Amino acid sequence: MTSRVSALILDVDGVLLASPHEQAWRDALTGLADPARFTSRLYQDRVAGRPRADGALAALEALGVPGPEDRAPDYAARKQARLESLIRTDGVQAFPDGLRFVERAAAAGLPMAVVSSSRNADAMLKACPRSDGGSLLDLFRVNLNGRGEGPGKPDPWIVLRAAAELETPPQACLVVEDAPAGVRAARAADALALGVARQDDAAALRAAGAHRVVVSLDEVEIEDLATGLWREPPA
Ligand SMILES: [Mg+2]
Repeated sequence: MTSRVSALILDVDGVLLASPHEQAWRDALTGLADPARFTSRLYQDRVAGRPRADGALAALEALGVPGPEDRAPDYAARKQARLESLIRTDGVQAFPDGLRFVERAAAAGLPMAVVSSSRNADAMLKACPRSDGGSLLDLFRVNLNGRGEGPGKPDPWIVLRAAAELETPPQACLVVEDAPAGVRAARAADALALGVARQDDAAALRAAGAHRVVVSLDEVEIEDLATGLWREPPA
């Protein structure tokens, strides 16, 4: 296979934005289970990148909460309320390397799609200013944030849809993801996968099938995307 990249498909939470999903899930557990048991590892492995309803059920199952199917809808609703409250009080920070990466890619003319499972992603991206005055959201030709009509990651649906709307074969699309579920979605779509290990979780991203894992997106040279040199040589 070739590793040449003609388009980018980016996840939002954990790649571009340090949004407080993990903390909201943890805080919303109060009364259901000990919030301290909701570790970052559990969040990354079972919840991150998945649609809210799927994430709620997966978390309750992982924590052994009785009757998880019955309690998941309420847990998901409490998580959303907590998330909105955290965003109101603390705001959302863009990862500086994530912002630089999409600005460098946009300057090079690479078409980009944004594919968050979260329905909150648009508002958060719109609230992030760019150096030239626009908002972060304006940089993306295709926006599939919070599109609930297909199955969630790790199903490849959203990646295949993004590739189609970018008019680029999935094999020439590079999916940038921080969660194993997102890397799996990319690989299931036969796309290329770049893992961003912001939480000391490079091994999990590699195990999910990432073609390269970086700690910061500053490590990736945009000109290497077109030549295939961005990818780690196979071990
Ligand atoms: Mg993510």
